Amino acid sequence: MTDARETSIRSTSTSTSTSTALPASPGETDPTTASGGTAPMYTLTAVTKTYQQKKRTVTALDGVDLVIPAGQMVAVQGPTGGGKSTLLQMLGALDRPTSGTVQLGDSELSAAGDRALAAVRAREIGFVFQGFNLVPTLTAAENVETAFADGSTPRADRRAAVEAALASVGLAERADHLPSELSGGQQQRVAIARALVKQPTVLLADEPTGSLDEATRDEIMDLLEGVWRDRGLTLVIVTHDSAVARRAQRRLRIAGGTVAELGS
Ligand code: ADP
Ligand code: MG
Repeated sequence: MTDARETSIRSTSTSTSTSTALPASPGETDPTTASGGTAPMYTLTAVTKTYQQKKRTVTALDGVDLVIPAGQMVAVQGPTGGGKSTLLQMLGALDRPTSGTVQLGDSELSAAGDRALAAVRAREIGFVFQGFNLVPTLTAAENVETAFADGSTPRADRRAAVEAALASVGLAERADHLPSELSGGQQQRVAIARALVKQPTVLLADEPTGSLDEATRDEIMDLLEGVWRDRGLTLVIVTHDSAVARRAQRRLRIAGGTVAELGS
């Protein structure tokens, strides 16, 4: 659906750069931003996503308006089936809404073709999942290196980046280990290194601690919070765990495809 709204969002789009952000003018404050004057990383407007299941239409997202400022750490909670993963897929340029618009910085994701979405994912976004999603036959270093799948980065640069990424998650000594030779927490560290190795601006995590015990959960959250702070990432974490959500600057709840603020 192309409409006037999409055109106006595109024409008024602002830079993703946080350093040039202007303070919000009084009276122009958008109630959906909670941004404190930082340039938006994401602007979702009337985002609806439906899936066709046999003869039934499932509404996974139902008219979501949401602004996520650059550099924010956001937790997304809510019941199973509420739309959390679907929202993350929209933010991650993995899928497009059925209607409405998703803007990442200057890019209109909802209007982009498959190649353009793949390019945005490769350049801007790192993903972390509950199940780590490592290739079992590859070492930690080789798993991290899979992030460079397009082959455009010279081998020596890839190797240096992989080494630095593994060191940044505390696994320099485990580069040659297979996933089966690592603990769950270490496997998730490898996955985080893989997500960060290309220096994304956004990190999206779907239940990143859902398979870990409490002590390991806290270690992984310390790590995620540390890289978020050090790298100025925009970090969105889907979680069932209130102890995880409490660490975010902002908490959202999504149920029935609708987003509400839970406060921070
Ligand atoms: P959550 O991550 O909060 O559990 P999801 O975003 O995965 O929720 O799902 C939201 C709703 O959309 C659910 O009713 C789910 O069954 C439905 N859904 C998600 N993905 C698909 C799909 N590919 N095909 C059909 N229905 C889907
Ligand atoms: Mg889910």
